[in-house]
Amino acid sequence: MGGAISLLAVNFIIAQIFTAAFLVIAAKSRSRRAALYCAGGFAVASLAAVFETIVPFTSFPRLFAISAFASVLAGFCLLRFGLGLFYRVPANWQMLVAFFLASVALDLAIYDLPRGTLQHAALYQLPFFVIQAWSASVVMRSERRSAADWILLWLLVLTSGYYLLKVYAAVAAGSGATAQDYVSSPFALISQALGAMLIVSTGLAMLGVMVKEIVDDAHARSEIDLLSGLYNRRGFTERVIPMFQLREGRLPGTLILADLDRFKLVNDSYGHHTGDEVIRRFARVLKDVMPNRAVAGRLGGEEFAVFLPSTDLEEARVVAHGMRAAMMSQRIDGLAEQARVTASFGVAAIAKGEPLEQAMQRADKALYAAKENGRNRVECAEVPQNVVNPTVPQWIGRP
Ligand code: GH3
Ligand code: MG
Ligand code: MG
Repeated sequence: MGGAISLLAVNFIIAQIFTAAFLVIAAKSRSRRAALYCAGGFAVASLAAVFETIVPFTSFPRLFAISAFASVLAGFCLLRFGLGLFYRVPANWQMLVAFFLASVALDLAIYDLPRGTLQHAALYQLPFFVIQAWSASVVMRSERRSAADWILLWLLVLTSGYYLLKVYAAVAAGSGATAQDYVSSPFALISQALGAMLIVSTGLAMLGVMVKEIVDDAHARSEIDLLSGLYNRRGFTERVIPMFQLREGRLPGTLILADLDRFKLVNDSYGHHTGDEVIRRFARVLKDVMPNRAVAGRLGGEEFAVFLPSTDLEEARVVAHGMRAAMMSQRIDGLAEQARVTASFGVAAIAKGEPLEQAMQRADKALYAAKENGRNRVECAEVPQNVVNPTVPQWIGRP
């Protein structure tokens, strides 16, 4: 009996640790509600260990045995609900409640059936099998397919299989003639030990998928510029470099660098807040005008870059002109009625094998030429003939 009770105590402590871990996740994650349901699931399921410990010592074993069953199942239902929120495969809560109540009623109905029989074992384990298989189906139906999701899916499948196996084990090894005997049965020992392992593994996998989401979100945030909503320099570079390398046998693409004209004057005359509004508006103009497959970033201050994959210089020049014209016609809150903010553009077609940094420098020189030539202009850099040892670029002034 000592062995099974110690394992119940271990299970209880493990479930408490998971409750605490999911509460921490809830504080950090955008899937806050999902993590709270998981914390609740483990907290409720942990009560089963308390009830099962009481069973051999009480004159109301039926009450405590059924409470133990109900708390594990309620815990699993809460986890199912939490997983549904997390994976955006919502559970119908009325269906979950009906399933829970029917399962408890079934457990009550079979309480007096001879234990250790196939009939009792099958009916006892059936709800656990169903709820775990139901949880596995949530992960299966979701769109997420990272390694962490696969691990969780297989653990849930394994856990539902474990409940089927328990039917056989209960009959083969004997689960005790009464609820009191159960705690001292070899079946209880094995079942609690295996159960503990599966609880830990599944709990860790669920924590894993939620932690992964937090890390992925933090990574995505570190690549986005908050003011403009475009990629920052790091995000832009990380997106564009692989696109460069994938263009075997095709044009790598074109870079457009843009810089707002006399922006310091906007800040000085209308304040930083209005300056920020101009930056936001310019970002929107770039997004609206650029083709779908293009990538736009704010490299810093009032300097922006757009990468157009598989596009030649002439096409990119047309796009840049579209951006220039669109910005010129923007009426921006906070500026004087007639005031308009313009931008200058430098365009460079990327030569095959040319590093991003080098193409950026050429686009930057073209942008500098646009500023020199009077601003609110588009200038294009010539594609160098020799990429490894580039010739001095020449500028084609085309307003
Ligand atoms: P030019 O036409 O030659 O580009 O002139 P400019 O005034 O735009 O160029 P300059 O580089 O001198 O000024 C850039 C200004 O951009 C200076 C800086 O205060 C402002 N700036 C940089 N980042 C931000 C920002 O996030 N918000 C606002 N409001 N201003 C910014
Ligand atoms: Mg500027
Ligand atoms: Mg600047």
